[in-house]
Amino acid sequence: MKNYNLILLGPAGSGKSTQADRLVKRFGLEHVDTGSLLRQAVETGSSFGQEIGHIINGRNALVPDVVIARILEEKIAQVPADRGIILDGAPRRLSQVPVVENVFRHTGRTLDATIFIHLSIVTAVERIRTRYHCTVCSSPLVLGRDIASVEDTCPVCGAPIAQREDDTPDGIRRRYEIFMNDTLPVIDHYRSSGRLIEVDGGNDPADIEREIAGYLEKGVFIPDVASGKA
Ligand code: AMP
Repeated sequence: MKNYNLILLGPAGSGKSTQADRLVKRFGLEHVDTGSLLRQAVETGSSFGQEIGHIINGRNALVPDVVIARILEEKIAQVPADRGIILDGAPRRLSQVPVVENVFRHTGRTLDATIFIHLSIVTAVERIRTRYHCTVCSSPLVLGRDIASVEDTCPVCGAPIAQREDDTPDGIRRRYEIFMNDTLPVIDHYRSSGRLIEVDGGNDPADIEREIAGYLEKGVFIPDVASGKA
């Protein structure tokens, strides 16, 4: 088991959750999924949750940085300091870089690497179109692979299945646009630190996992091409 503290970024549909699950198992990390923490807040039905719901599902926009600071502090403070984390989905824009740095500092963590999974919009839209999940056991279900029709129930526990409320074609396009405008500068920021691992989300998930693990275990990261630094 390795005590890595990682950030995982990529557009919707790039396979962040799949890789997070694999790296959690491989290295014994805790998965801190920003989007999922926000959706849990929405489900509470509190006024805080309702406000978040309007932003995520109504406007397909990013929630304010103070909200991100609050939910990440609360969650990461609960993870034992000797257990590494994989922070999925933050920082999503440059103003969140110091927010995440603060949370790491308060919880005694040092960032080891940022992983960027890239994927084209065409593949992302196609993947998300077929992306369902179980409403009870949360198993991810792919139409045409795990379920034959949207009328099916969960093959794992038999409960009803659903699609995420923001996974509409417009919602996906809007989130991809935000990714290109707001999140790519964050990736450039980590690239210039020389600790960015870049992988192709179109590859086989097992190969992507091996590639990421290889970089982490060797402590060798993608060279910063612009400055020639390794
Ligand atoms: P995701 O599950 O990563 O696709 O995130 C779902 C939605 O939650 C996004 O479209 C945003 O509206 C919101 N969200 C997730 N992470 C962040 C973040 N770091 N900053 C602001 N909004 C976020």
